[in-house]
Amino acid sequence: MTPTSPQPPPTAMTRRAFLGAAAALGLGLALSPSGLGAAGAEIRLPPLPWPEDALEPVISARTIGFHYGKHHAGYVETTRRLIAGTPYAQMPLEQIIRETAGRAGQEAIFNNAAQVWNHTFYWHSLSPRGGGRPPARLLARIEASFGSLESCLQELARAAVSQFASGWAWLVEEQGRLRAVNTPNAETPLTRGQRPLLTIDVWEHAYYLDYQNRRADHVAAVLDKLIHWEFAAANLEG
Ligand code: MN
Repeated sequence: MTPTSPQPPPTAMTRRAFLGAAAALGLGLALSPSGLGAAGAEIRLPPLPWPEDALEPVISARTIGFHYGKHHAGYVETTRRLIAGTPYAQMPLEQIIRETAGRAGQEAIFNNAAQVWNHTFYWHSLSPRGGGRPPARLLARIEASFGSLESCLQELARAAVSQFASGWAWLVEEQGRLRAVNTPNAETPLTRGQRPLLTIDVWEHAYYLDYQNRRADHVAAVLDKLIHWEFAAANLEG
């Protein structure tokens, strides 16, 4: 496998499950082989890209078990229930998100669908072999936009820690520049003209079992040990 490939699927994963995981992203990003994400894509819980205990000690298997098995799974089930019998049932996930964003009366569908997408993207933003230095192509872009990798990491940490209450920190590409941004609740750069490269979940359920109120410590450990620069590099435009 090349350095920019997504994590290999677990051996037990069927081709159908893998296609579901890729379609769930539906973006033309690193996880989505071309041709997927067409109309009629089913919303389903994609498999994790690593075993539940693979991110220990930074993120415990218990946290992943609840986060993936209860929270992410819950967003999938709620989305499926809410879109059943509506035109959204025929749309790929990303289209549902774009069409419900900011639309009165569609908040529940938007929130659940965006949380499905955000979590799938989040799992792939983490790797047991993460941290360290980004691939050269991404590092050059980081240095052009932030001045240095250290500044980029500081900006990402600031975006994560300063997000009041629930939300997400992101590295995004916008008009040729990389930026560290945050979004509240389920909101996503997809509807803001930004291309997501990686994300960190800063809802309390992402870290409370392991770090309680110490969000900054959790974010620092994630950036140091887990952040998957190869995934971010593969999501760069062009
Ligand atoms: Mn979460």
